[in-house]
Amino acid sequence: MKFSNYLVSEKKAKYKCECGWVYSPKEEEKPFDGRHADFKCPKCSALKEKFTKINEEGETEGSMKCKECGWIYDPAATGREFSEESDNYKCPKCDAPKSAFVAI
Ligand SMILES: [Zn+2]
Ligand SMILES: [Zn+2]
Repeated sequence: MKFSNYLVSEKKAKYKCECGWVYSPKEEEKPFDGRHADFKCPKCSALKEKFTKINEEGETEGSMKCKECGWIYDPAATGREFSEESDNYKCPKCDAPKSAFVAI
């Protein structure tokens, strides 16, 4: 079991372009947020706002995993944060309660 990646420092945060290219800063490079606003994807030339922050597993920031069945709650897909779901929220795959979800 891995610990939550919420504590990954902003400096090492990775961002994924809508084309799939991933900005992955190394220690000596600037963090993504430190880039100029006119930064463009080297692959598809998409603008900075087309990038989504991802965690170490390559999942969108804020993704949660059902520890019963492994189903992934992806806020980029649902359009809202997991914390905004009602307390009655259940895993769509195995009906596990909201409390069965862990941060990934
Ligand atoms: Zn791109
Ligand atoms: Zn589940």
